[in-house]
Amino acid sequence: MNLPRIDIDSAKIAHNVQKLTTLYGSKGIKIIGVTKVIGGNPAIARILVDNGIKILADSRLENILRMRKAGIRAQYMLLRSPALSQVEKVATHVHISLNSELIVLKELSKHALKNHSIHKVILMVELGDLREGIMPSEMENMVREVIGLKGIVLIGIGTNLACFNGIAPDLDKMTELSSIAVHLENKFSICLNIVSGGNSANYHWFKSSKKLGRINSLRLGESIFLGREALCREPIPGLFTDIFTLVAEVIEAKQKPSMPYGKAYQNMNGEIPCFKDIGLMSRAILGIGQQDVLVSGIVPKQEVTILGASSDHIVVDNNKANLTVGDTVTFDLDYNALLRGLNSIHITKNHVNYQKCQEVL
Ligand SMILES: *Cc1c(COP(=O)(O)O)cnc(C)c1O
Repeated sequence: MNLPRIDIDSAKIAHNVQKLTTLYGSKGIKIIGVTKVIGGNPAIARILVDNGIKILADSRLENILRMRKAGIRAQYMLLRSPALSQVEKVATHVHISLNSELIVLKELSKHALKNHSIHKVILMVELGDLREGIMPSEMENMVREVIGLKGIVLIGIGTNLACFNGIAPDLDKMTELSSIAVHLENKFSICLNIVSGGNSANYHWFKSSKKLGRINSLRLGESIFLGREALCREPIPGLFTDIFTLVAEVIEAKQKPSMPYGKAYQNMNGEIPCFKDIGLMSRAILGIGQQDVLVSGIVPKQEVTILGASSDHIVVDNNKANLTVGDTVTFDLDYNALLRGLNSIHITKNHVNYQKCQEVL
């Protein structure tokens, strides 16, 4: 097996999907499976669909095309607002998109009409996290315009919190989204099928609330793949947090001084590093670097500590682990490290427990 690689435990993904579906389903919430962290990997997307996920959502059109080409049958949702330059492709290849700009919605309408198809849209509401979204005071005007456009149909509203600024999707925010939904339905005599309250950060609100108002949908990535909520990054009870494991190979292992010697200038990162002199030490180099993975987002599972990394090398303190050339080191990955790692062409993706996954079904 090529190294470096990421081992992907398919059976654990199936387990997490089933647990989350049951948990959120108990109060009427349907889960949309978010595939951006896996780069639209079709083998993984299939596990989601086989375990009951009906809508797959991704922020990148290319990932959606990849899954569709592989024959993964689902409704596809584009999470990032369509760029004007891509509306034609979005109207053609994507079933549902999240939107906040009227000019884009008009173009989507134009292209859907040309295709003789209907494109479904969800309007995003700004509730304070200050990434995408229409200000609540503008929602009425926007809906009036959108329901007048042919070729597109308004199927819901949504919001995205705890992303850009870490603003919590708490009871206040969810109550506000609910009342906006109710107000729009009454005002325009429409039915909003989807009221999408957010992402993996909505877990605490969900657990602590008896009644969820009109919220009936969440878009989940991190909870499925890392088994965690996204406000404090705590594990969700009963879920696996170790689905993905990064494996890298030792390419040099030697006794060397702990202090660099010679005149010190900037290193490859533009820093002048500082080390404590502990005399001679055992150091190892791994054949993986910043180009492959976000080094600040990986944590060794063995007794080594990362001393630093350049584009193609990670140097570790090998005093305790005593690794030799050819040994492997395994790591846990956080969301951003996983995002970079799974989307890297330099890292082999190795599916384990695929058979067991079929038995879980
Ligand atoms: C990435 C993303 C999500 C999923 O977020 P997680 O925290 O991984 O669950 C949901 N909605 C939007 C708009 C996103 O961009």
